[in-house]
Amino acid sequence: MSLWETTDHDDPEQIERKKRARYNSILSTISINKELKTGVFQGRTGIYETSFETCTCGDFQDRQLPCKHIYRLDYELEIIEPPEKKPPVKPKADNRIKITPAKTVHINYKGSNGKISERDIDANMIEFVGDKLYIYGYCHVRKMVRQFLASRITCMVYEGREITDFMELIEN
Ligand SMILES: [Zn+2]
Repeated sequence: MSLWETTDHDDPEQIERKKRARYNSILSTISINKELKTGVFQGRTGIYETSFETCTCGDFQDRQLPCKHIYRLDYELEIIEPPEKKPPVKPKADNRIKITPAKTVHINYKGSNGKISERDIDANMIEFVGDKLYIYGYCHVRKMVRQFLASRITCMVYEGREITDFMELIEN
């Protein structure tokens, strides 16, 4: 029996991993082999080779339970419906979550032309639209409130620390 079949995927820790697999702009897919059902992913600290049975990341090596890469592989192969369509924090209206007080973060943002720019934004809201996650905030460069697509944020630093999960902005 595979690890996938024997794991309690509704366990709170596992739900957290599924969320991180989906809403994590730092984790990117390098390649997927649909036949072998394997993938290679780029994380913050390295490149991981993943199948439904195993992953080369430290999280899997420590716990021997599906890590976020295994969940990401699952989404990439579309084997099951993504279990976490909504964020764990209940949005007050629609799918918007306010960040109060606003948090000043430094981001590297990839524009539609592929160029990466650096800027400070006062992030004040997160919005989920289907599969996409947006961050709203006052942009110190443009001097106006702007919408940022989370998947284009290649790096986000808050109070000197890199943030890989945007939900941290709400939770703190
Ligand atoms: Zn992993």
